[in-house]
Amino acid sequence: MSFIDRTARSFLLAELVSGMALTLKYMFKPKVTINYPYEKGPLSPRFRGEHALRRYPNGEERCIACKLCEAICPAQAITIEVEPRNDGSRRTTRYDIDMTKCIYCGFCEEACPVDAIVEGPNFEFATENREELFYDKDKLLANGERWEAELAARLEADAPYR
Ligand code: SF4
Ligand code: SF4
Repeated sequence: MSFIDRTARSFLLAELVSGMALTLKYMFKPKVTINYPYEKGPLSPRFRGEHALRRYPNGEERCIACKLCEAICPAQAITIEVEPRNDGSRRTTRYDIDMTKCIYCGFCEEACPVDAIVEGPNFEFATENREELFYDKDKLLANGERWEAELAARLEADAPYR
């Protein structure tokens, strides 16, 4: 750009005018930002958030204590202890996930034959200390009860691709 062009653009405030024109153009377009946390953006059904243990509609735990999730977890974040019930079925007596180790790979969910352990849509589980991130079975089952409607819908949406 020549010296004359640069001088003319400076005197005519060309950059300012083009900047204001751009602002004006976007004033009337739909906003790309959202007012988080009051508004939330869309989440993929495959989003891998906080873990949950699910139950069947009759209240029975889905988990059959096969330990596949524990075996496949690359971070060794899952600890399971098992005892047979009086009716001969296998159920966990302990199901812990150390969320400080978890890398949210989703392998546990993929390995589970009965869709018991899942990663749900919740990403708002920040804590004030590490201890709160040591999840036990009660916490995971409570998560399952809290998010069951979303978890079921999410699994159904993804079912044709699994
Ligand atoms: S998401 Fe991955 S790292 Fe986390 S508990 Fe499951 S298998 Fe382990
Ligand atoms: S959560 Fe699923 S994979 Fe893990 S022990 Fe239970 S049934 Fe097996």
